[in-house]
Amino acid sequence: MIRDFLRKVFGPRGAPRGRLKIIPFERHRISRERVSRCALRVTTTLQSRGHAAFVVGGAVRDLALGLEPKDFDVATDAVPEEIHAAFRRSRIIGRRFRLVHVMCGPETVEVSTFRGLAGAGGEENTEHSSRDEHGRILRDNVFGTQEQDALRRDFTVNAMFYDPATQQIWDYQNGFADLEVRRLRMIGDPEQRYREDPIRMLRAVRLSAKLGLVIDPGTRAPIQGMAELVQNVPASRVFDEMLKLLLSGHAKECVLRLRKEGLHHGVLPMLDVILEQPMGERFVMLALAHTDRRLQEDKPVSPGFLFAALLWHEVLAAWKGYQDKGVKPYPALHEAMDDVLSVQEEKLAIPRRYDAVMREIWSMQPRFENRSGRRPFTLLEHPRFRAAYDFLLLRCESGELPGEIGQWWERFQHGGKEERNALLLPGDQRKRRRRRRKAPRDDAAAAAAPAED
Ligand code: ATP
Ligand code: MG
Repeated sequence: MIRDFLRKVFGPRGAPRGRLKIIPFERHRISRERVSRCALRVTTTLQSRGHAAFVVGGAVRDLALGLEPKDFDVATDAVPEEIHAAFRRSRIIGRRFRLVHVMCGPETVEVSTFRGLAGAGGEENTEHSSRDEHGRILRDNVFGTQEQDALRRDFTVNAMFYDPATQQIWDYQNGFADLEVRRLRMIGDPEQRYREDPIRMLRAVRLSAKLGLVIDPGTRAPIQGMAELVQNVPASRVFDEMLKLLLSGHAKECVLRLRKEGLHHGVLPMLDVILEQPMGERFVMLALAHTDRRLQEDKPVSPGFLFAALLWHEVLAAWKGYQDKGVKPYPALHEAMDDVLSVQEEKLAIPRRYDAVMREIWSMQPRFENRSGRRPFTLLEHPRFRAAYDFLLLRCESGELPGEIGQWWERFQHGGKEERNALLLPGDQRKRRRRRRKAPRDDAAAAAAPAED
């Protein structure tokens, strides 16, 4: 009874009610022009139908930091059916928690109804919320008030609501003040929130690295001791979060911070692959820095390329193993690729759709070492040449291959017809012709540098 009373007075986390702070435009300087067209249309339409509607979460945080949000989310008191009815191009998605996707042109805005506290900790299981034996939330499907919606979010800086109509931020958790001092602070009791959803530990590391925020000591302290709870999270969800982290534009920084926080070593198999290859660490770190650089220059990056890089030294080791057993280089490489993929795809939950790219990038590598005759021309025409060439450059940069090979291919691909012919290695050409006459398929050099796939 006392607990019920306290809850009534202080709210479910012991936080006094009425802590709502309204931050005016003059303080945050976010003008509604910075909100995407689609998000603006969504909030305006819902408000005109008598609903509350705000831009919420990462978008408000990014705008307040002067960054361009990746995407816009809207939170409202309208239920999914009402949202869906308000927009012709919209659909209700999600089974665990129903949301609405509203489409305008190429943009999609995710609109969710304010969620209640079943997922915010401290509540007993209800028919709408259940947990596993570690306290991890398995289901949480209740609607709630705006204040409750703020409470169930992870960090204070992720729990701000922006109303484009008034250009005000509604802030229940002091997120704005935290953002001003560049602090990442968990809402509620950090230990309990990590137990409910261990992925929040990875989010803490990613967001702090990406946004240059310092993790509040109370939020940071429990991570080391709780790291292993990540193992209870379905592998596909860990994979999704790792992918976000690797494609955040700050992958290298994230990975180093994960190690510092003790979130590797059996906890994140992908990180073990990255950090625990004595030979490969330099190569993998170069690959991460390369990806970060491309993202910062707004160039596209392919996850397949990244996974190919993460696993390359495993492939190399397995390749050598097969050759030591007497298998010829080319078949040995294919055996090695099969082995590494079948073990690692399962362990790291890498979806099968990246298979083809990884295999192509790997199997093209030996072909770069053949620089005579027609073969370099054929390789140049391969649709995946660019990715395989970038991969080759990483191998050169890491010291695995002489830098001269990368420079040769740089000149060859950009040279005119005459320059290309002049670049071909004539010695090899003669040798090849002589050998071909004698024993066309049965020589190691040909096998090591297969001509065609
Ligand atoms: P970004 O999109 O830049 O990676 P984000 O914070 O927007 O970062 P999303 O995954 O898009 O991340 O989530 C949107 C919002 O949903 C967050 O800002 C946060 O309020 C809430 N949220 C996301 N994941 C969690 C979680 N694991 N626990 C609690 N709240 C979460
Ligand atoms: Mg987001």
